[in-house]
Amino acid sequence: MSIIEPVIRPPAEASSFLLQVTLGCSVNFCTFCGAYKNKPFAVKSSSEITADIKQHARWNKDTRRVFLIDGDALVLGNDKLIPILKETGEAFPKLSRISSYTNGHNITQRSDSELKELKDNKLSLIYIGLESGSQDILDYCHKRSTAKEMIEAVNKAAEAGIKSSVIVLLGLGGQKHSEEHIRDTIEALNLMQPRYLSFLSLMVIPGTGLAKEVEKGSFKELTPLELLKESYEIIKGVKLNKTIFRSNHASNHLPLEGTFPKDKIKLLNTLEAGISGELRLKPEFLRGL
Ligand code: SF4
Repeated sequence: MSIIEPVIRPPAEASSFLLQVTLGCSVNFCTFCGAYKNKPFAVKSSSEITADIKQHARWNKDTRRVFLIDGDALVLGNDKLIPILKETGEAFPKLSRISSYTNGHNITQRSDSELKELKDNKLSLIYIGLESGSQDILDYCHKRSTAKEMIEAVNKAAEAGIKSSVIVLLGLGGQKHSEEHIRDTIEALNLMQPRYLSFLSLMVIPGTGLAKEVEKGSFKELTPLELLKESYEIIKGVKLNKTIFRSNHASNHLPLEGTFPKDKIKLLNTLEAGISGELRLKPEFLRGL
């Protein structure tokens, strides 16, 4: 298999076949992200992709889930993507789902019929990094997709039958803009009504633009306790009708999971217990207090 490292995938795709379609991220501007800093964007050749599908199919004919890597495979137009999806469907007769990371633009620039064509070829889940609902925070971090675009993308995808898994980055507003981060993220999530939602906590990665801001003192990170409070306030504020929530990434200080709206109170109670010190937390969390 010709996978070029490093490879990044959501926790939920741990058992999926990772089909590398592009390398790196076509944007690669976000100042908090170090994922692909040393991996320039490129598109893999059709012959390499075909060889990878065939090789995996030789021993794993019953594959049900495929995750397209790297950072935004949907940057490819349908003319390139649909043949890959069709080939994947033919190679794995039991295939139930193809998923991919995407940015907002890659969805909003597509017509409804193009999105439907993706869905008809089993692309049924997209992972989209909202990070924050605040446009000022997104601008500060040089995120290319706007909040408005990402809200539109999630709704447009839903109309085509494609579910979204939205990722929020706790702490991205720093000390100064935490309130704005909470307020605007609540608003964006309520407008998105994503099928899946996850929280990650900001980890400042050495060598990134954000790390330089931290060194200069212009960006002050939240403490672990403040991150928990942000999580609490966002969960308290959202009105989600049918969303599966996970906050169990390694960056999070308190693992949480539940379904909105039924588990909202339970999630808030768990966070309250964590904030008050009633609940035993990870040792690394306690060191950070
Ligand atoms: S956060 Fe996403 S869009 Fe931004 S540079 Fe990283 S992979 Fe690319």
